[in-house]
Amino acid sequence: MKITDLTVHLVRLPARREHNWASKMTTPIGHHAIVELSTDEGITGWGEAPAGATWGGAHGKYYGETPETVAHLVTDHLRPAITGMDPLEIGVVHALMDKAVKGNPYAKAAVDIACYDAAGKALGVSASDLLGGRHRGGIEVAHSLGIMELDRCIEEAREAVAEGARTIKCKTGLDPERDVALVRMLREELGPDVRIRVDGNEGYASVAEAVAVTRRQEEFDLLLCEQPLAGAVALSRVAKRITSPVMADESAWTVHDILELDRLDAAASFSCYVTKPGGLYRARQQAEVAEQLGMICDIGGSIETGIGNAANLHLGAALRIATLPSVCPVSQPAGSGGPAIAGVYYTDDLITEPFGFADGQVLVPDGPGLGITVDRDKIEQYRTGR
Ligand SMILES: [Mg+2]
Repeated sequence: MKITDLTVHLVRLPARREHNWASKMTTPIGHHAIVELSTDEGITGWGEAPAGATWGGAHGKYYGETPETVAHLVTDHLRPAITGMDPLEIGVVHALMDKAVKGNPYAKAAVDIACYDAAGKALGVSASDLLGGRHRGGIEVAHSLGIMELDRCIEEAREAVAEGARTIKCKTGLDPERDVALVRMLREELGPDVRIRVDGNEGYASVAEAVAVTRRQEEFDLLLCEQPLAGAVALSRVAKRITSPVMADESAWTVHDILELDRLDAAASFSCYVTKPGGLYRARQQAEVAEQLGMICDIGGSIETGIGNAANLHLGAALRIATLPSVCPVSQPAGSGGPAIAGVYYTDDLITEPFGFADGQVLVPDGPGLGITVDRDKIEQYRTGR
């Protein structure tokens, strides 16, 4: 089987509500690049890049991408580099992509996902099979509140828990008093059994501020404290002064970042994305190194559509250390009858069948490749550009 073409579709899914975090307070979610990979055997692979201009690493280490840069990179650089390759030869595909273009991991990740989808369909096995098999059939959902007014946060958390969510993720980092009050109010409202995690998205002004806020939040029992401020060195200084485990996200893009976090004793866990390291193949490598160093992870992302989310779920199933509750959406097309709030960020999706949600987990789709069917009518309906 040979890759014959790569096509990029830019879409904008309708959001259930605005979803903001400290480093992204204006742009809407769901404006993503979808990659369609064609082969000479008529098998199609699908991938997604939820690229964001304001998303990068600390101190200029990584750069924002956009759906438009992904379209340009895939169409004009990656497509000529890998046309004619077998998508199953994923290591070679990555070497060719890296030779053609430095960086731009979100563009490469979309192509990588499409390769796993096509290769799995050709072999009749799932993407998680190709990654080594499933350690679990579902990923524990952490319902993410986004930065909103406190009363809206409390109300939404109550609804998400009533629908089965067992973990609430709070976006924080802009207002220390608000962030402490939010955790206190959630704990009072939800009781002792719901897990609460916080994510400052590098928003706090200093190590001292991050430490002070987190210590006050810890009175109400935190599962973990994610990336309160920028940089691995700063994380290590916070980690030494708080009780709850630190998770690295913006400071954990690559294998080398994992090695740095370990060297600095900066994080007990990291947020493993399909996209930050440049695809499922690279994420697997990153997680293997982290496992050897004794770290665990969740499966993070940027509120993907059902396409990218399917890749996230297959990755989460295949990584032994992906044991933490994750912001993996419960992807569902309009009218599916699934949860209304828990794990739901869009009012529609690009896939024909909803993902299962049971016992607080979003279930990994079965079937070859990503295990999804893409609804081409929805791609047309939500198309914004090339
Ligand atoms: Mg994060």
